[in-house]
Amino acid sequence: MANTNTNNILRSIPAMDELLNAPWAAGFYDRLGRETVKSIIAETLDDLKRDICGGAQLTQPAAELAANRAEHLLHTRAASSLKPVVNATGVVIHTNLGRAPLADEARQAADAVSGAYSTLEYSPAIGGRDERNTHVEWLVRQTTGAEAALIVNNNAAAVLLALSATAAGHEVIVSCGELVEIGGSFRIPEILSFSGAIMKPVGCTNSTRISDYRNAITENTTVLLKVHPSNYHMEGFVKTASREELAELAADHNLIFMEDLGSGLLHQPALPFANREPAVRDCLKAGSGIVTFSGDKLLGGPQIGVIAGSKNLVDMMKRHQLLRALRVDKMTLAAFEATLRLYISGRQAEIPVIRMLESDKSALLKKARVLRRALRDVLKTADALNAGNFTVSVIETRDAAGGGSFPADTFPGFGVEIRAAAGAATMSAGFRTARVPVIAGIQDDGLVLHVRTLLPGDEKLIAAAFAEVLNKPRGC
Ligand SMILES: *Cc1c(COP(=O)(O)O)cnc(C)c1O
Repeated sequence: MANTNTNNILRSIPAMDELLNAPWAAGFYDRLGRETVKSIIAETLDDLKRDICGGAQLTQPAAELAANRAEHLLHTRAASSLKPVVNATGVVIHTNLGRAPLADEARQAADAVSGAYSTLEYSPAIGGRDERNTHVEWLVRQTTGAEAALIVNNNAAAVLLALSATAAGHEVIVSCGELVEIGGSFRIPEILSFSGAIMKPVGCTNSTRISDYRNAITENTTVLLKVHPSNYHMEGFVKTASREELAELAADHNLIFMEDLGSGLLHQPALPFANREPAVRDCLKAGSGIVTFSGDKLLGGPQIGVIAGSKNLVDMMKRHQLLRALRVDKMTLAAFEATLRLYISGRQAEIPVIRMLESDKSALLKKARVLRRALRDVLKTADALNAGNFTVSVIETRDAAGGGSFPADTFPGFGVEIRAAAGAATMSAGFRTARVPVIAGIQDDGLVLHVRTLLPGDEKLIAAAFAEVLNKPRGC
């Protein structure tokens, strides 16, 4: 009996042609092309048939469900997938939201080379081939004090290349307390193994002394590696070897002292705890032979990895075959060059990440009040019954640098809290699925819009999202 029933339901699903020629489907031909519309409908029908055969309880007649699901999927596929959102989380370097928003000059530089031919690997002065690295190497040297520098796709690539070029088949000594995982996919032991190096962990999780490194050195050792623990913080009895000690030990044994710094701080933001995050220049000065860091964390530029340090070591990496697979494209390189130029000309405050980190409480309070007004204005336009379900107020928040910088610190900021009868989770979903998605925090069942991470114009986008939330049925 069940089988007959299933067959009847399956038979009630409309034929492909009927759906494909329906006006709601034909309306997508312009944007997706008829073939794509057809394959999206086919995908929907396959899924629906699988559901029915799996015994799923349908909430609508199969024919209606097929049309509704197909139309929904067409809407999803017709819209841009990678698109801007409003970051109202208060986490400045938010990896899932694309880390650092670029400075205006960096965006313009990327735009200028994107739709034209460029000097990427060409020198007009020579009239021939040049290296793509040349555009930024001198700027990295200028901003970090390094002798030489090499740019690759991201910091993971920088670490991989640096280790492959210096330690394949050799031992790398690293503290047990620094065998960290960053962002779920970057794991020091795995990168080491991938590079062909032999990992030699020393010390204990919470304590590694310089003597631990010294005792582990053999004829086959080439690198002492120090890793910034980034997203991880230890408290209590913690002992690590200093940069100076490691540099001295490396020099005594003719080894390379390499440091994976993570964040690449070029300029100390005016934050009370900024001195706890080492600047690239200070690490090199303290004796690190090679430092690797990201371009899109505290530096505030595009996704990039920098290898900076002594010339003979960087030259080994420049000659390595792996570089070809890790190289950076022209838009990224142009954006990075422009970002570094903001540093050398003392205009770091034009870099959004730096500006956000340096925002003081009075500026943030002002910003929160502006946002509160914009949201209350939206409430005034809603019908009274619905508006009564919401309250909008300015509150204090805890914000964070994110991206593994200042891992133990949150710092005070301001935000606008929206409380609704429907609850914060429902409201958060409404804001997330607005035309321009707004990603906010939740605290004590209130939706919290942190203003520190808002870019110019975001207040308007948040107000538009709020209007969408208000105009949805059932208050949210
Ligand atoms: C972030 C980070 C990485 C990975 O850098 P990506 O640029 O994301 O590849 C590696 N090491 C450390 C210490 C980090 O903080």
